[in-house]
Amino acid sequence: MTAAAARSAALHLRHTGLRLLLHGRGGEAQALHAEAQWWAADILRARQWGWLQDILRAAWDAGEFYAARMAESGPPPLDPARFRRVPPLTRRDLARQLRQTAAARRAGLMRTSGGSGGAAVAIPLDRDTYAWYVAGTWRGFQWWGVEPGDPVALLLGRSQGSPLHALLALAKDRVINWHRFPVDPAFDDRAAGIVRAMERLRPALLYGYPSALHRLVRAIRAGGLRLRARPKAVVLTGEPLYVFQRQAIAETFGCPVVEEYGSGELGSVAFECPHGALHVTAENVYLETVAAESGGERVLATQLRNRLAPLVRYEIGDIGVIDAEPCGCGRGLPTLRILGRDRDRLERAGSRSLARPLVERFLGALPEALHGRVRIVHPAAGVLVVEVETAPDAAEQPDRLVRAARETFTGGWRIEVRPVRRFERLPSGKLPYFALGAQGAT
Ligand SMILES: [Zn+2]
Repeated sequence: MTAAAARSAALHLRHTGLRLLLHGRGGEAQALHAEAQWWAADILRARQWGWLQDILRAAWDAGEFYAARMAESGPPPLDPARFRRVPPLTRRDLARQLRQTAAARRAGLMRTSGGSGGAAVAIPLDRDTYAWYVAGTWRGFQWWGVEPGDPVALLLGRSQGSPLHALLALAKDRVINWHRFPVDPAFDDRAAGIVRAMERLRPALLYGYPSALHRLVRAIRAGGLRLRARPKAVVLTGEPLYVFQRQAIAETFGCPVVEEYGSGELGSVAFECPHGALHVTAENVYLETVAAESGGERVLATQLRNRLAPLVRYEIGDIGVIDAEPCGCGRGLPTLRILGRDRDRLERAGSRSLARPLVERFLGALPEALHGRVRIVHPAAGVLVVEVETAPDAAEQPDRLVRAARETFTGGWRIEVRPVRRFERLPSGKLPYFALGAQGAT
């Protein structure tokens, strides 16, 4: 066999491998995702309302749990007003639901949520449903020119915070040309080696946590390394994406940086289009918002495809805005803006405001050398701790950090600086840049 024929055979194998994984049971999901994105918004909305009724019926039929929760709304079909009488599903409710359907759980695949909003929750998932979970992510990759068979580098942790995780559990990575670089507590020490491995791999797509990709950027800059191959895109998922990360990653990798919003419980929820809008995966989830106690609107998601473990009006835990304005890309999918995590609030003098906007502003205003090395801990009302990783070659200036923090966090905060040797990633591999509680360091 000639080299060209061998390459062609390998490519054919990769296409076949992906087809088996994605299309084998997911032909319907793939086809609908390809088509429905171009439907007019009102047609999509009407069809989505129909899918919602189907899943409500499945939830109602599944047993006592949802029948009890729908006591006020009555049985499906539900009009919008009655639908809103179904109480929002918290993570604790979900755990109770899953205990009640433990038997079904043994029959399907398992997904575990990232656990960033509390204890990890395992979601039962059969393979048909799984195809729906990943179809949105796969469509998003294609918006950026990524094709089956393209080499992909995955930089994800154990949290299963990405919709692709269960697929990865099934996949023979080499067959589909995906390469994993696990984000674990030792990831940061291996950053330079991973960059060298990327050089050999020449991935068309890098997919992973923002903090992990940004750590590679720091290794590239510190080592004076140059990447010879430019990826088609870097897709970031699983953690909040800060502007400083997006800019540094775009500059260093020389390609578009794209945000995906998803979760282990729900699958793909939204994906950024080439016009910069985060489009809701309307074929997979129905999103709505309700007023939050401390201000803003909480995002609720109803999973439209998982009949094994229906999630109806599930509390994602984020504050956000859903918009139906048309996007320049022409897609009728609604758009989503996430403003921050509901529980991540800055509390002072009886007021509770979303932490995210101010933390974003503070981190973005820091000198580049401190990007990724500073985070905010909020241990008690009125108190902020600026944690900074000490660099061996630089004397940190705590006074300067306090002054910088005072410019953003104005009015009456007690601000302390705490040098730490290094930030530890969570067991999930994630690295939050804002944390409630004492946090602490090594
Ligand atoms: Zn768009």
